[in-house]
Amino acid sequence: MESPILEVKSLRTTFSSDNGTIPVVNEIDFHVNAQEVLGIVGESGCGKSVTSLSIMGLIPTKNGKVEGEILYNGENLALSSEKRMRKIRGNDIAMIFQEPMTSLNPVFTIGEQLIEAIHIHWKWPKKRAREHAVQMLKKVGLPRAEQLIKEYPHQLSGGMRQRVMIAMAMICEPKLLIADEPTTALDVTIQAQILDLMKKLNHETDTAIIMITHDLGVVAEICQRVIVMYSGKIVEEGDVRSIFKNPKHPYTIGLIQSVPDMREKKDRLYSIPGNVPKPGSIEVGCHFAPRCPYANERCKYETPPLFTFDNGQKVRCWLCEEGRDVVND
Ligand code: SF4
Repeated sequence: MESPILEVKSLRTTFSSDNGTIPVVNEIDFHVNAQEVLGIVGESGCGKSVTSLSIMGLIPTKNGKVEGEILYNGENLALSSEKRMRKIRGNDIAMIFQEPMTSLNPVFTIGEQLIEAIHIHWKWPKKRAREHAVQMLKKVGLPRAEQLIKEYPHQLSGGMRQRVMIAMAMICEPKLLIADEPTTALDVTIQAQILDLMKKLNHETDTAIIMITHDLGVVAEICQRVIVMYSGKIVEEGDVRSIFKNPKHPYTIGLIQSVPDMREKKDRLYSIPGNVPKPGSIEVGCHFAPRCPYANERCKYETPPLFTFDNGQKVRCWLCEEGRDVVND
């Protein structure tokens, strides 16, 4: 039986502004099983990155507020102190970002940064920490690891920096790795190598991964289950095979249609008309209604709940009420 390593319940993350309180993540529930790779997919502004920052305790308290439960081993991280979260970050849950330079310090060598991370979490003596750092660089496929630990981040290529970031995130053997668009800034060949590396680490170390991405190709490549987010809410959830074979939410269908298909020659790629609404700009009804080709009057005034199908697929759309699958009929 699969057991969740992380359970998120009624997560709501808001930011205060001159225009009032803006909900960027709005009452979402999901879980991640041990050793699983879960994808969270959606366009920019859908709330996927804010979800990951909420889990990591990195929402600025000055104007941000996280409500609900983020249960890790039974502990609600939403209520944990900053001191406790510093212990959890890196040790239990680690994160990698799109741009490695946001996490790597340009004034310290790669080795100094890796050794520091080991020292903070495990208090190992320097020699042992250094050996572990070299091993980790080799594990992520970096050549001449002994030399590399003496170099600075700016001396490495983008792909190498991203591998160092992964080494840094994995060095204390976290139970959960959150990867926020880790391959977006890289060219396609390096992208494929980094995804292979993450798959390998997932198999070898049993680390569960939350893969945050706008790219369904990445989801198909690495994830077992996927959550589709739109305007701060989950609109569809299910195992990757079911969602790709039989997407039910009009937004998911649009996202899949926008993925280029090498077998078909098209003059123009499909793109979903319109833009993601600004957080807080739609208060009632389905947030996708202004862009949805199936919208009717009800959609504008009543917010749909998540409907669950027999295969476990969940869909937030009135078309799926009572288990009907109108879009695919
Ligand atoms: Fe479209 Fe209505 Fe379904 Fe929303 S509830 S996705 S507007 S059909």
